[in-house]
Amino acid sequence: MRSLQFAELCVKRDSLTRNLPEGKEELQWVSNTSTLIYGEKDAVLVDTFITVEQNQKLIDWIKSFNRNLTYIYVTHGHGDHFFGIKQIKEAFPHVKAIATEGTVKESYKQGGLIESFWDKLFPNQIPEPQVFPDVIDAISFELEGHRLEIIEAGFTDTANTTSLWIPDLELLVAGDVVYNDIHQYLAETTLSTRQEWIQTIDRLIKLNSKFVIAGHKIPENDNDPKILVETKQYLLDFNRLDKETDTALDLFHAMLKLYPNRVNPGSLWGSANAAKA
Ligand SMILES: [Zn+2]
Repeated sequence: MRSLQFAELCVKRDSLTRNLPEGKEELQWVSNTSTLIYGEKDAVLVDTFITVEQNQKLIDWIKSFNRNLTYIYVTHGHGDHFFGIKQIKEAFPHVKAIATEGTVKESYKQGGLIESFWDKLFPNQIPEPQVFPDVIDAISFELEGHRLEIIEAGFTDTANTTSLWIPDLELLVAGDVVYNDIHQYLAETTLSTRQEWIQTIDRLIKLNSKFVIAGHKIPENDNDPKILVETKQYLLDFNRLDKETDTALDLFHAMLKLYPNRVNPGSLWGSANAAKA
């Protein structure tokens, strides 16, 4: 059996939270990551991008590998990770888009937010009509005989999230369970879900991954597994500073003091407001 390889594509885009206190303007962007795992003939894509233009770039990139795309695996139900399914299916008619039952359920909820949320942030740029992933009724699937294992991650940055573990590559394609130098999206979380998230990370650390690819990363960064511990520490710090502060602004500044260089402070502003609501 020939070994697998992998590659990733990152696109920078505007943040979702755009009204935030002044400062850190140069850090007000975010990126999305798509990962291609490929063998001799076939390939699997993990997550897509948001806009028509980004997803066209993704399709051109996949084509450059000259492989038969068999699956799109969607790690969780946020639109920035699956809105490209429609275009990719048009470009690769035999590909199957799959996700866990929980992720599929969440993706349909996001589909209901196109007009009220996504279209306002990215006018006329969201692929429509939406195409959703199908439920995979198994905990793993295969690429040329290699196992790709689905890890249920529970509530992390949203409900019913997952990561994909490829033992033969010692690669964890983490989705939004792990962040790489980008402020984590905690606006949907509570203290108790953040504790669940921390436990999940402890479970993922035991895999001893060689590479961990985050759904949101600074494109130039490598995929060092240390980002697991960093993601956990960020959650611990947020929980502690939430207790020590009274207002969203205080929490925002206290976190920025600890994390002055993380990209996308808008996400932190959203998190701080949700925590103090
Ligand atoms: Zn995301």
